[in-house]
This record gives sequence, structure tokens and C-alpha cells, in this order.
Amino acid sequence: MRLDQLFATRARTLSFEFFPPKNERAWYTLEDSIDQLVPLGPDFVSVTYGAGGTTRAKTREVVEQIQGRWGVTAMAHLTCVNATRAELGALLDEYHGAGIGNLLALRGDPPKGQERFVPVDGGCSHAADLIALIGARGGFATLCAAFPERHPEAASREADWDRLADKLRGGACAAITQLFFDPADYRAMCAHVAARLGRAPRIIPGIWPVVDWAGLQKACQLSRAAIPERLRAAIEPLAGDRAAARRAGMAFTVALCRELLAAGAPGLHIYALNRSTAAAEIVTALRLLGESI
Ligand SMILES: Cc1cc2nc3c(=O)[nH]c(=O)nc-3n(C[C@H](O)[C@H](O)[C@H](O)COP(=O)(O)OP(=O)(O)OC[C@H]3O[C@@H](n4cnc5c(N)ncnc54)[C@H](O)[C@@H]3O)c2cc1C
Repeated sequence: MRLDQLFATRARTLSFEFFPPKNERAWYTLEDSIDQLVPLGPDFVSVTYGAGGTTRAKTREVVEQIQGRWGVTAMAHLTCVNATRAELGALLDEYHGAGIGNLLALRGDPPKGQERFVPVDGGCSHAADLIALIGARGGFATLCAAFPERHPEAASREADWDRLADKLRGGACAAITQLFFDPADYRAMCAHVAARLGRAPRIIPGIWPVVDWAGLQKACQLSRAAIPERLRAAIEPLAGDRAAARRAGMAFTVALCRELLAAGAPGLHIYALNRSTAAAEIVTALRLLGESI
């Protein structure tokens, strides 16, 4: 189902994010994850696109498999990295032919060793260009990325949120956020974008399940998200006790989800990343606490 149509009928959605497996064993892990999460009734799932466009074919294959075998709507991530507009256009035709109707349109990160993103000749400079390209072709619901703490390259968070408003004005029907841990950042971003658009934007929080201190630090280094003091204080002292750290991390994550839903978040997008147990536990806990998600 096209997500723009789904959003018109659902106040809240539940979604999970996966990445394309690198080898046969990883395929089995992914299959197990999907088997565990599909019974929770996600509205859709999404599949990442490797840095530098490295998993282009795999992303498509996984999206097709999820839609075909599990009957769940799957969205393909797509970046501008290493692709001309003509190549992106050809890829859109392929996706359309394969029954893929939902795309998360991203600029992508600069390739390793490169500080700034430089488009290839004839390529797209910003995600907004890709969103326009997809819109001109037609046939897809397009989502975009949002950064509650601001994108690391942006001069200020307001400047970055203005660019987010441009993407939503330019054809993206919703946004999914980078991981973050302070609901105040999310609220401020939504208020800023709503003021720019003159309407409430559909910005789905991306949720990182906190299960250990080392994993949290790594995720935050990669995404450059901040670890708020209250999260650090809850997890760091338990770094030597895996079970206790996991309990505290999951309690923090569930509380964060509840705060975001109470603030009007239109659902949750959980970074399941092929390890489904924590994602399933979060959804189950929220439902036991009476949240409709
Ligand atoms: C939910 C989510 C999923 C992701 N999935 C993937 C994935 O599968 N594969 C992958 O490689 N990466 C992925 N990323 C990472 C993403 O590609 C990077 O964060 C990238 O650096 C920014 O992408 P963007 O689409 O936000 O870019 P843009 O919207 O183009 O923004 C990038 C920067 O440029 C600025 N900017 C935008 N437009 C303009 C303009 N017109 N003039 C000047 N400045 C401008 C913005 O403020 C920002 O600082 C994902 C990110 C998120 C949040």
C-alpha cells in the first residue's frame, strides 16, 4: 500500500527498520527478525541503502521479498550518492516495475575519507532534489529524513529544520527522524516545521532500543546524537552488568516512546536493525501500558 494513502487513514503507525544482509547467515537472522516482528502488525517496514549505494540491488531484493513473502508494505531507502539523475530515474523505473511504491529519499553521507558531500556530475546535491525527481516521475509515496538535534553539517538547528520544511513542502508526505533521546528536541522541531508549513507535519520519531552502554555509545558516535545526562546516569554505572543495563535501557526507551506519543507523535519507527527481540519487547510493553500503537 502507498504510505501517503495509509497516513490519510491512520493517526499513528508502527514501523521497523532493517538492513540488507551481507551473507547467507545474515539472511536467516533477518528472516527470523521479520518472523518475530510481523505478528505485531507493523504498518510498514523499511530497508536501508548501503553507504555509497553499495547495497542497491540487495535493498530492492529485500523489499520485494518482504512484500511478497510476508505481505507487509516495505519502503526502500534511496540516496543520491554516486548516481546521476539519469541513473536514479532508471532505478525508479525498476522499483516501480518491481511493485515498490514507497521510498525514503535521502542525500546520503559523504563517502569515507571525504568531509563534504559532493554530488557526481549530473547528480542531486540535496535530498530535496531527489524528492523533486521522484515527484516529477510520479508513482511513489516519498518520505524524508529529519534531525531533532539538527543534521551534523547544518549551521543551526533552525536552518536545518527549514530545509526539512522544504522537503515536506516539496513532496515528502512524512519524515522519519534520526535517533535521539530528548523529547524536547522533537517537540521543538515539530513546532518549528509546523510554523513554517502552516500545518502539523507528519514526523515519525526514529527509536533506538537502548540495550547496552557500549552499543549506545557506538550508535551515538555514528549518528552524532547526544546522550542526555539522565540516560548516561541510568546506563553507564551498569555497564558491567548486562542484564541490569538492558533493563534500565529498555525502561528508558519505553518511557521515551510514551512521552513522544503523548506529545502527539504520529507513531514510532523502531530501528530493529535485524535484531528483533528488543523491538518486540518495546511494542509489547507499550501495549501492556495501554498505548495504542
Ligand atoms: C531515518 C533515516 C534513515 C536513513 N537511512 C539511510 C540509508 O539507508 N542509507 C544511507 O546512506 N544513509 C541513510 N541515512 C543517513 C542520511 O543519508 C545522512 O544523514 C545524510 O547526511 C543526510 O541525508 P538527508 O536526506 O537528511 O540530506 P539533506 O536533506 O540533503 O540534508 C543534508 C544537509 O544539507 C543541508 N541542506 C539541505 N538542503 C539544502 C539546501 N538547499 N541548501 C543548503 N543546505 C541544504 C541540511 O540542512 C543538512 O545539513 C538515514 C538517515 C535517517 C534519519
